[in-house]
Amino acid sequence: MAISKIVIVGGGTAGWMTAAALSKLKSGHNVEITLIESEQIGTVGVGEATIPPFVDFNQLLEIDEREMLAAVQGTFKLGIQFANWGKIGESYLHPFGNYGYEIDGLSFHSIWHSCQQRGDKRPIQVFNIETMAAHFGKFARTADYQREDLPPMNYAYHIDATRYAGFLRAYAEARGVVRREGRVADVTLNNESGFVETVTMNDGETVAGDLFVDCSGFRGLLIEQALETGYDDWTRFLPCDRAVALPCNRDDGSPPHPYTKATAHSAGWQWRVPLQHRNGNGHVYCSQFMEDDEAHDILVANLAGKPTAEPNFLRFVTGRRKKFWNKNVVALGLAAGFMEPLESTSIHLINTGINKLIALLSLDGVTQAQEDAFNRFTTKEYERIRDFLVLHYNATSRDDSEFWNYCRTMEVPDSLTEKVELFRLNGQIFREEDELFTETSWAAVMMGQGIQMEGHSVMADALPFEKTIQELDEIEKSVRFLVGKIPTHEAYLKNYCPAD
Ligand code: FAD
Repeated sequence: MAISKIVIVGGGTAGWMTAAALSKLKSGHNVEITLIESEQIGTVGVGEATIPPFVDFNQLLEIDEREMLAAVQGTFKLGIQFANWGKIGESYLHPFGNYGYEIDGLSFHSIWHSCQQRGDKRPIQVFNIETMAAHFGKFARTADYQREDLPPMNYAYHIDATRYAGFLRAYAEARGVVRREGRVADVTLNNESGFVETVTMNDGETVAGDLFVDCSGFRGLLIEQALETGYDDWTRFLPCDRAVALPCNRDDGSPPHPYTKATAHSAGWQWRVPLQHRNGNGHVYCSQFMEDDEAHDILVANLAGKPTAEPNFLRFVTGRRKKFWNKNVVALGLAAGFMEPLESTSIHLINTGINKLIALLSLDGVTQAQEDAFNRFTTKEYERIRDFLVLHYNATSRDDSEFWNYCRTMEVPDSLTEKVELFRLNGQIFREEDELFTETSWAAVMMGQGIQMEGHSVMADALPFEKTIQELDEIEKSVRFLVGKIPTHEAYLKNYCPAD
């Protein structure tokens, strides 16, 4: 069946990102795109920290960065600071860019480790521009200082989720997407194929489609409630199942820091996402070990300013749909699955889902091969991200609560066990099939939480020491030079994209 009508159910971040991306590609094709959303149901209202590929997504849509950041009160993000994860009182930054650079094809952390063994005592952080800039609260876009001898700065954004959805709505509607307000009350399947044919609104009107994108949030209106696709529950690996979100002002005049903060508590962790006018905050916790009231009190006790809204309590089950693409329904966003926002990966998974959908889309119809490819790639993506998140909980020496005792001793996926073992052995990190997280990402979290390289990299030890030290000196020098030159993050925002 040819595709001439695409229906997106849901108008949160997932729905409007999908609508915006499809509307850009629609020109020249005879395709109608309809998005249905219900103001009465609303959106999840959280999801404000992103990672660098999100910058590419906005570029792909040819969105003006300054205009968008001003509209969504956005700030820049150089990484995530993790406090109290390995041990109470310790913290580290997971930066977006790399530590140093490869020398003779060898990963920098192996070379650094070998130099440490041979007497150099500098911490690895001094070789990373994002860590050093974040440390001093500084920021500049690489475009501002383009010089070949200076390292590029990798960044993402913090955004107000509701404003971002509104921004994309204007973008998509201007490109022909039709928005239908109202609640979907019923879904009709074809008797033979089981494909979704129409959705019926609560006013009785039906909306027909050839391809449906389910962006209806946790409820998974089409993918689960209509198609009964099934869900893989990963609670045993990632036991947190609740969150309470509470934005606050920054009346104390503190500047927005150019990174997300993730601070571990006794049965979960707290995020702080600095926007231009407020901080987004929330406490992710495990209901087996903590009551809602206690989680709320811990959050309130650790806010940097006064709350600006009522607390928003959320429940979730970590895991993924057994199929992300089932018949003529593709699930994106919370309808596809959920992993807590420890590494800000949910919006990223919407982004990569859209990329795959666009790459596989054929207006001639839906085939089994498309469905299989989409599901295979997406499953791998989810599993790799899951392993990385589990690492944060499992690589800890914390024994101050039942929750941490569980996490420290829990069974973890075999794929993660192998990764940690190889790193301990000689610092090797094998990234499989374009996985999202880089060698620096893995090394930053492993070392930041107390996993050390125990053996040596034979190849790194074979590099001439004096020459290698000279290379390290050069890297450190350019990092320090650049951080000295660039403005503070706050000054940069005021000049580049002051909020509307
Ligand atoms: P929703 O925002 O829930 O939108 C669902 C839409 O479907 C709404 O428009 C709703 O009205 C509509 N709808 C539902 N049912 C019907 C119906 N019957 N009829 C009509 N319309 C209907 N991600 C990150 O990348 N970074 C983060 O920092 C981050 N933090 C998070 C913190 C928490 C506590 C949680 C729970 C999630 C977080 N996420 C984060 C995930 C992020 O919030 C989501 O990926 C993102 O907001 C997309 O949500 P969504 O659009 O899928 O769902």
